[in-house]
Amino acid sequence: MRLSRYFLPVLKETPAEAQIVSHRLMLRAGMIKQASAGIYSWLPMGYKVLKNIENIVHEEQVRAGHIPMLMPTLQSADLWKESGRYDAYGPEMLRIEDRHGRDMLYGPTNEELITDIFRSHVGSYKDLPLTLYHIQWKFRDEIRPRFGVMRGREFLMKDGYNFDLTKEDALHAYNRHLVSYLRTYERMGLQAIPMRADSGPIGGDDTHEFLVLADTGESEVFYDAEITDLKFGDRAIDYDDVAQCQAVLEEFTSRYARTDETHDEAEFAKVPEARRRTARGIEVGQIFYFGTKYSDAMGAKVADADGNRVPVHMGSHGIGVSRLLGAIIEASHDDNGIIWPEGVTPFHCGIVNLKQGDDAADAACDALYASLTALGLDPLYDDRNERAGGKFATMDLIGLPWRITVGPRGLKNGVVELTSRRTGESEELPPEQAIAKVAAIYGKAIA
Ligand code: ATP
Ligand code: MG
Repeated sequence: MRLSRYFLPVLKETPAEAQIVSHRLMLRAGMIKQASAGIYSWLPMGYKVLKNIENIVHEEQVRAGHIPMLMPTLQSADLWKESGRYDAYGPEMLRIEDRHGRDMLYGPTNEELITDIFRSHVGSYKDLPLTLYHIQWKFRDEIRPRFGVMRGREFLMKDGYNFDLTKEDALHAYNRHLVSYLRTYERMGLQAIPMRADSGPIGGDDTHEFLVLADTGESEVFYDAEITDLKFGDRAIDYDDVAQCQAVLEEFTSRYARTDETHDEAEFAKVPEARRRTARGIEVGQIFYFGTKYSDAMGAKVADADGNRVPVHMGSHGIGVSRLLGAIIEASHDDNGIIWPEGVTPFHCGIVNLKQGDDAADAACDALYASLTALGLDPLYDDRNERAGGKFATMDLIGLPWRITVGPRGLKNGVVELTSRRTGESEELPPEQAIAKVAAIYGKAIA
């Protein structure tokens, strides 16, 4: 993309309404615009990052054997009356009446809808296990929407639902989700720690929240510092292998890590003092096993091997897709702006032309742009007639991980400059080598 043809409405001033850095930077970098409280338009660059995050979530869900689909945002109240949650949900639910006087709602979550789909089409244990998921907008009329996309009213969520014959199978589905979430967040350059959360009336060990450590997080968290050394990495995993998934779960959840809802001082005291940490965290996901709660209420049963009709065991598993943009920026920025991890960056690298209109500089930038594009990369070329300082400030603000700077002086010596946004380190290289380096970073082969 050439910046002169793009729509990147960066703001010079720091918006007064934004209290935390990710919100400020998303507004300043022209990624979002508030439409009304807690509701945002996604401007082109924000939309690009949102899509990148969504794609990673999709890829990792499909890898785990989960099946994508799409349910609507607007739901009929009837199913919620059946489950008993229509009255229980309270004022966070946006209730709408259609022209025929029918009660509708903008879905805050989808357990009822998916259970209805399941009971309409699945009748036998032979069709299990089954995990369906979608990535769809949700609406919760939060009392205090704030921090930009972090606590919106309309927000994008991945929510998945597993249906299993036995509790044992459902717990494997739970473990599978935990493993796939670890991979998902790591691909986004994030460390999200699974923490024992409040499971409400169900009790037991059956819900974990994933938290990204950040001073601006809304949850207080308590953990054993050893946990931050754990990396999932690129280990191979067979998602059908019950023992393997269980082992990963144990590895990542055996140390003390809890939110304030489940925190237990006596248990925490058993962690050696030097490793005890209290911090704040952003909840970016939650997994849940809830047994037969909805299948009992809504009659979602299958015939088992003996022909008896039994309620299915279920769980639901959510990732805060739009909240993740804020979480990633909270975890990765400096005084000059965002620092995108390579996995989610809106453009793979920036090209800055120090002297627009100089024949050699223009030609070199065009050639770089063409070569990078031919490799399947997506560069952002700042071809505006602006001074170098302004171009650098924009690049730093929008946070592309790599920048190639091209100027007449360097070109006389046959070099351009490749700069890392994260470290600020630069090196001078012939253009072909700069291209090769960027290609290698993103795993693109040069023919
Ligand atoms: P919270 O405790 O932050 O209100 P929740 O526990 O009610 O969230 P879940 O029902 O677990 O949320 O939803 C799954 C994920 O959706 C959460 O882990 C979070 O990342 C995201 N999410 C929830 N509410 C919001 C919101 N208002 N704005 C943006 N993302 C949200
Ligand atoms: Mg939650």
